[in-house]
Amino acid sequence: MSTIESITLMLALVYSTSLLYWSGKKWGALVSGTLLVGATLASFFWPLLLILLVSVLVVTAVGQYRPAFATAEARPNTIREFSQHFFALSMLLVGVQYAINAGLLYAGETPWLMRPDVGDAFLPIAGGIELKAILTLGLWDQNHPAAVVMLCVVLLTGVLCKRAFCGWACPLGLAGEYLYKLRKRVIKAELLPPAWLDWPLRMLKYLLLIALFALVISMPSNSIPHYLSGNYHKVADLKMAAFFLMPSMVALICFGVIFALAAWRRQGFCRYICPYGALLGLVSFLSPFKIRRDSQHCLIETKGMKCDKCTRACPANISVHTQKDIRSDECQACMRCVSACPKKEALQLSTRNGINLSTRGLLIILLTVMFMVPLFAYVGGYWHSQTPDNIKMELIQKLDRIGH
Ligand code: SF4
Ligand code: SF4
Repeated sequence: MSTIESITLMLALVYSTSLLYWSGKKWGALVSGTLLVGATLASFFWPLLLILLVSVLVVTAVGQYRPAFATAEARPNTIREFSQHFFALSMLLVGVQYAINAGLLYAGETPWLMRPDVGDAFLPIAGGIELKAILTLGLWDQNHPAAVVMLCVVLLTGVLCKRAFCGWACPLGLAGEYLYKLRKRVIKAELLPPAWLDWPLRMLKYLLLIALFALVISMPSNSIPHYLSGNYHKVADLKMAAFFLMPSMVALICFGVIFALAAWRRQGFCRYICPYGALLGLVSFLSPFKIRRDSQHCLIETKGMKCDKCTRACPANISVHTQKDIRSDECQACMRCVSACPKKEALQLSTRNGINLSTRGLLIILLTVMFMVPLFAYVGGYWHSQTPDNIKMELIQKLDRIGH
């Protein structure tokens, strides 16, 4: 596990444990703390232990001074924004570390900086094929095991807490928010497409998802071992890095479309193009948690007022104030509607039988799933790529000629 991965993982898990402790869930904090320490000890990886110790000290000091995100009074939006920036910073550092590692391989030098395996999260097709290999052949890939681990992590977040991954963790979502705000400074108009155009545009991301799914499904099971041991799969991450660092004309056009969509409307990229968003949108139907409006507390029913603050706060343009349960695949569980509502009990993220999930609870679930699962995968020996550096050095020189 690389330094950046270790630091992020430990900070996130220690922070989620302390959130449990600060919110009075002492038993929850004890269980998650025990799991964390137990898994770290079982890994026999001393940097993880050292960073665990440092993380405990950092989080304790932060809790002592109580910045906005650590206080009980923290507004839901503050906690979400903290989470988004935390993940974005972590992915930025991972990207830098990854680029240095790839640059050294390209120069023919044995990298002194480890490759962060979490970068395999950007290989969803490889992750899908690996999942198929595990399910149909019992075959566990050794070149990019983190790809299937991260695919499962993302799916699990969707089952547990809807598209919270999009609204709370995805760095592209945050970058899109900034692009949109920048555009709004220059062109103030909202520029929303009419409903008859919005729906087919939203379906584009499902078409992309179907295309990716078809790639995975169409690969015959008996060719999977050959694919997983082939050169293309071994350098799939380096090809992906080259796609971003040395983009072709087609790639540049794709980036242009993505930027334009993000700037055009809020969450434009997530809403129209992102296949991960489509996958999570589908999986989110399984989540027991939904935004639910309680008509016994909502000002519309109780006071006959014309309130639509929740709807106006929603970045996904969902008409919250006219519905009882929000089942939309576009809901990112961002809780903006909840924090905009003047009546605390009127709007909650809850199960059908009334179990509420607070902003902190959602963050704890997200951090626990996103970091505890990779930690256990690491401890179980299914995280780090086994492709030797000398093979990568050899293959990176002929990257253009390697196909599948
Ligand atoms: S309905 Fe609420 S939680 Fe869902 S996207 Fe809209 S503001 Fe966010
Ligand atoms: S903001 Fe709250 S009170 Fe107003 S319509 Fe929405 S749920 Fe009802």
